[in-house]
Amino acid sequence: MGTRLQTYEAPGITVTFDPTVCIHSAVCVRGLPRVFDVKRKRWIQLEHDTAERIAEQVARCPSGALQVVPPAVRRDTP
Ligand code: SF4
Repeated sequence: MGTRLQTYEAPGITVTFDPTVCIHSAVCVRGLPRVFDVKRKRWIQLEHDTAERIAEQVARCPSGALQVVPPAVRRDTP
């Protein structure tokens, strides 16, 4: 893993991972091992679970290295 912010996208959810923030607690790996697997080159594979369950797991990341990108804020034209 490099040190640059990584972005992973799937229908309904986008997750970013900041390797400089991760404290390697493995909370994500233990929680959803099919989605988060550091043995893979592309270690986050969002297609293995639902957006809702992934968002719940991301919220448990103790360092904030994992983040769900909120949908673009809708701006209604005046
Ligand atoms: S839960 Fe967060 S801090 Fe822990 S290993 Fe995963 S990304 Fe890193």
